[in-house]
Amino acid sequence: MAVSTRNVAILGATGSIGRATLDVVRSLGDPWAVWGVSGHSRVDELGQIARQDTPAVAALTSDADPKSLDLPRGTRLLTGPDALVEMAVAPEVDVVMAAIVGRAGLESTLAALEAGKRVALANKEALVVGGPLVHAMRKNGGELLPVDSEHSAIFQCMTTGGGTLAEGKKSVRKLILTSSGGPFRTWTTAQMRNASIDDALKHPTWNMGRKISIDSATMMNKGLEVIEARWLFDIPAEKIEVVVHPQSIIHSMVEFEDGSILAQLSPPDMRLPIQYALTYPERMPCIAPPLDRSRAWDLTLEPVDHDRFPALKLAFEVARVGGTAGSVVNAANEQAVALFLDGQIRFTDIVPACRMALENHQHESDPTLQRLLQLDRWARAEVQRWSCGMQA
Ligand code: NAD
Ligand code: MG
Repeated sequence: MAVSTRNVAILGATGSIGRATLDVVRSLGDPWAVWGVSGHSRVDELGQIARQDTPAVAALTSDADPKSLDLPRGTRLLTGPDALVEMAVAPEVDVVMAAIVGRAGLESTLAALEAGKRVALANKEALVVGGPLVHAMRKNGGELLPVDSEHSAIFQCMTTGGGTLAEGKKSVRKLILTSSGGPFRTWTTAQMRNASIDDALKHPTWNMGRKISIDSATMMNKGLEVIEARWLFDIPAEKIEVVVHPQSIIHSMVEFEDGSILAQLSPPDMRLPIQYALTYPERMPCIAPPLDRSRAWDLTLEPVDHDRFPALKLAFEVARVGGTAGSVVNAANEQAVALFLDGQIRFTDIVPACRMALENHQHESDPTLQRLLQLDRWARAEVQRWSCGMQA
């Protein structure tokens, strides 16, 4: 019997996760197909992907001139503010890969869930900002599967033996997120104060987009992942822990009530969690190489140094209070990272900028999407003003 096509819409196809997803879908082959792709500023790359994969739809989300995009015949072009949502809810789409970086991916993620799609979620900021809304949206039949390696590991540990997430969750004592510690794991705060953009972009174990690389250096990435885990697994912040594991082979662990800990291990390669989010509950051969057991592996775990990495304390506070806090801290962080990448603030200014925005905002526990987006704009402006004040 012929298996029906599994159409994938890749939002953020030109990025690091997007390109890894293209690799996975190409290697899975029939019945998997790239149905739609989106790109923002890398117009040439979007054209090249479209010519290789001949998707039904390509979306150009920036205001770059669409005439500069060379699409194959048969690929329909979408532009404008609603392009991502239109692609995400198209009836032909089975799985949406949410691989846009930052808050910009929120509306399409919400729309895909509302339309009852399976969403493979890499875009952690969507959950950090819209956690309560995304959580509610899943009740409409949408399915949210983690792509972030830590959350994929936790998901795999909790559903091991074919159980449901709800069953696994009943006996969870702690979710233990692992962190590589980033490029500054062994740096002093004084050294971090003078860190250059290149220093901060040099991740020891993962090759990723620029924004998440800076987040890894401040450990705000782990902080965002704590908040992501809180919403994704609907678990209180008190049940989440972080440990540093420099080799990035143990992707995370779950401690159960009886004290038993399960972990998921594989080399650091995002193609494995991406594929699992697409094919779950099936496991298929994967192009990501398996762990080479012919050589010795050192797997070490160490506690986080919260004094040198204050982002985590901040994120745990956000995970505890929920509501509008996620939107404010995420926007402040996006703005501060952009300012750092632009050479306008120091590396060690990023987390204080987020703290300042969190403390200057009036917390609300049950915000609408409109309010979250309003606060997103407010927090960006607040950080911008704050940075000008510092330079004065
Ligand atoms: P990237 O910078 O390499 O790619 C980002 C993608 O988003 C690009 O396709 C870009 O065109 C698109 N984009 C950027 N701004 C946009 C906007 N305003 N509107 C629409 N599209 C826009 O980033 P990445 O490393 O692939 O990360 C993507 C997401 O996945 C992030 O949320 C990141 O935290 C998460 N993630 C990444 C990794 C990784 O290994 N790279 C691992 C785990 C989670
Ligand atoms: Mg991660």
